[in-house]
Amino acid sequence: MLAVILGTATFKFNESNMSEPYQVLARKYRPRTFGEMVGQSHTTKTLINALDADNLHHGFLFTGTRGVGKTTIARIFAKSINCESGVSSTPCGTCPTCIEIDSGQSIDLIELDAASHTGVDNMRDILENAQYMPTKNRYKIYLIDEVHMLSKSSFNALLKTLEEPPEHIKFLLATTDPQKVPVTVLSRCLQFTLQKLTHEEILGQLKFIMDTEGFKYEELALGQIADFGNGSMRDALSLLDQSISYGNGSVMVADIKAMLGLVAHDDIITLAKHLINQDAKACISFVKELSHKGENLTQALKDLSALFHQISITPNY
Ligand SMILES: [Zn+2]
Repeated sequence: MLAVILGTATFKFNESNMSEPYQVLARKYRPRTFGEMVGQSHTTKTLINALDADNLHHGFLFTGTRGVGKTTIARIFAKSINCESGVSSTPCGTCPTCIEIDSGQSIDLIELDAASHTGVDNMRDILENAQYMPTKNRYKIYLIDEVHMLSKSSFNALLKTLEEPPEHIKFLLATTDPQKVPVTVLSRCLQFTLQKLTHEEILGQLKFIMDTEGFKYEELALGQIADFGNGSMRDALSLLDQSISYGNGSVMVADIKAMLGLVAHDDIITLAKHLINQDAKACISFVKELSHKGENLTQALKDLSALFHQISITPNY
C-alpha cells in the first residue's frame, strides 16, 4: 500500500524496508559537485579552470532546455566561490556556507524566478540592495532563473548593475530562451550553452540511482524512461519517481507500458509486418484495434520508426 502525500515533495512506502520518508529523486540525487554532474563537460571544464585560477567574470548566462542542469551548475558555482575553505572548483560541502547553499538557505545567494518577478519595482528593490556588502560570505550572488521573462524596464535595471558591478557581486543568469535576452545583457555575460543529455547519460544515472536505492528494475524499462526524458534529466527522474510508486518499489516494462499506455513491442513488430507486406487493410484494422485498447499511438509511431531505423542500419538487411 502506497501513501502519497500530495502537495509536498515526499511520499512513502509502507513496507518495512521503506519506512524512511521517500525523498524525490531529482532532489536527492541533485549533483553537489562538478564531478557528480552528468554531461555538460564543456561548461564544467571552463568553469573549473576559471575557479581554480580564481579568474572570475561577474556575469554568467546558462542557456538550455529544462532539466539539463542550469540551476544545478549555478548552485555548485555559488558554493565554489563562497565556500569557507576558499575559492576553488571543489567546495568542501561541509562548511556552514556550503550546507546553507545546498539546502537553499544561504542569505547571500539570492535566487529569483524572473517569471514571477517581472515588475521593475521588485527588480529595482533587489538590485538596489546589490550595493551593500554580502551579509556573511565572500560574494553576494544573484541567481536569476528564466531571465528572459524580465520586463524591458527590469532588464534596464539589471543592466545598470551589470555595467558597473561592485566587486562583491556575481550574476548567474539562466534561461531556456536566450533569443529573448537583450544583446546588451548577453554581451556583459559569459555564455554557456548546455546540451540536452544523451540517452546513455540519462540511462546511466537511472541505473546508478536504482542500484544505490536497491530497487528492482528491468533495464529495458529504464531505457523507456530515459527515452521519455527526451534529454531532460529532471523529466526522466520525475517519471522514475512515478514508476517506482506505481510499481511499489520496482520498475518493470509491463508497469511502464501500463502507466504510459505504450504499445507492446510485439504489436509494433506485427504492425511492421503488415507494412512490409503492403497490406493496407490489415494495417488499418490493427491500428483501429490498438486505438480501441487506448494505446498511445503517437508513441507507437515513434517506436515503429525507431524499429525501421534499427533495421536500416543493421548489416545484411
Ligand atoms: Zn564549504
